[in-house]
Amino acid sequence: MTRRRIVIVGASAAGLAAAETLRTGGYTGELLIVGEEPEQPYDRPPLSKQILAGAWPIERALLRSEADLGKIGAEWRLGCRAVGLKASDHVLKLQNGDHIEFDGLIIATGVRARPLEGRAAFRNVHYLRTLNDALAMRSTLALEPRIVVVGAGVLGTEIAATARALGLDVTVVGPHRLPLHQFGHHIGERLADLHRSNGVDLRLGVSVTSIHGEDGGVSGIGLSNGETCSASAVCVAIGSIPVTDWLDGSGLKIGNGVECDAFCQAAPDIYAAGDVASWWHQGYGRQIRIEHRMNATEQGIAAARNLMGAAEPYCPVPFVWSDQYNVKLQAYGIFPSDGTFSVAADGAKVVAECRQNGRLVGAVGWNAVKDLRLRRQAIADEMLLVA
Ligand SMILES: Cc1cc2nc3c(=O)[nH]c(=O)nc-3n(C[C@H](O)[C@H](O)[C@H](O)COP(=O)(O)OP(=O)(O)OC[C@H]3O[C@@H](n4cnc5c(N)ncnc54)[C@H](O)[C@@H]3O)c2cc1C
Repeated sequence: MTRRRIVIVGASAAGLAAAETLRTGGYTGELLIVGEEPEQPYDRPPLSKQILAGAWPIERALLRSEADLGKIGAEWRLGCRAVGLKASDHVLKLQNGDHIEFDGLIIATGVRARPLEGRAAFRNVHYLRTLNDALAMRSTLALEPRIVVVGAGVLGTEIAATARALGLDVTVVGPHRLPLHQFGHHIGERLADLHRSNGVDLRLGVSVTSIHGEDGGVSGIGLSNGETCSASAVCVAIGSIPVTDWLDGSGLKIGNGVECDAFCQAAPDIYAAGDVASWWHQGYGRQIRIEHRMNATEQGIAAARNLMGAAEPYCPVPFVWSDQYNVKLQAYGIFPSDGTFSVAADGAKVVAECRQNGRLVGAVGWNAVKDLRLRRQAIADEMLLVA
């Protein structure tokens, strides 16, 4: 089928990869890219690391130069939100009232930070999803000496590590007994030790019950074990929510994200990619959604190729990394709650393997880049056995 107008909603990692793939794949029709944020596409991983630390200028986080964006040959509508879709009519509605007809659509609207429900809004309570969030958090950290990070997942522990490097007094609060609990006991213990030895006060196995303030600014939080922590700033990192509210009434199936088949297709001529997409992973034999940087690019490419007719199931070995202090954590695969872990340690290097029903489904490395790469292949091989 010859397509004449393809629209991409979401001008970030997944949307950009999709746009470039359409062009390198030979698509010569109109290409419209709609993005809510006013900035050119930028990378999010540095936001909790180099940008928050003030070590990089903002420009270094941009995903492409102005010249390279120009080469894509697209019309960019930045600072403009898509507010509605009629999937069966192939019409998209924009915030400014425009109705855009398309014959191909890729949805790449990502996720937003999950709010700490029912808590009073105080000054110096921050979330971290966008460049503006990172700059606002950075300004606060420059002035406020005592921060509490709510959430002990990848993002919460990264914020804590960056804040400690800035010399702040840091407490991390999390509901599980270990940070990054999904990676198993051994990695969780190591990470907890790493944070404690760097001076972080870990309060684990507790949740936040109240936030206190004075003169409109936050002054502390109350915990489920009855303790309180004083704080001059609070950074909330308790997960995220797929940005699908604008798709209400669109006719698309929305569950944990935009529900897609094995080809990233949500409806005829409509595909989804990146953090917002939930798709049928043939290797794992179930619907999954991944909030990992590499997936955003790979799925953006896959969705664009399939929109152009490739008909290739998208079946990656998921990959995520996190940099904290002098440790590089990397993980391939998935880590189901009923997974069992086995650990191989060689000096400072550790690899924890996760098995489900005897099958290798995931592996985490602690400063073990090369060893982990071998596990990636093993995980991929086991997937083929069930695919
Ligand atoms: C602080 C931080 C640190 C991270 N660190 C790591 C890391 O170390 N390793 C790792 O693997 N992953 C990391 N990630 C995750 C990674 O950045 C994401 O997986 C990736 O950005 C997802 O890309 P995306 O294009 O799918 O979505 P996003 O990057 O979320 O982009 C979606 C875009 O769509 C726009 N949008 C939303 N709704 C609309 C609408 N209605 N109309 C128009 N535009 C809309 C949004 O404004 C946004 O610009 C990190 C994420 C954050 C926030």
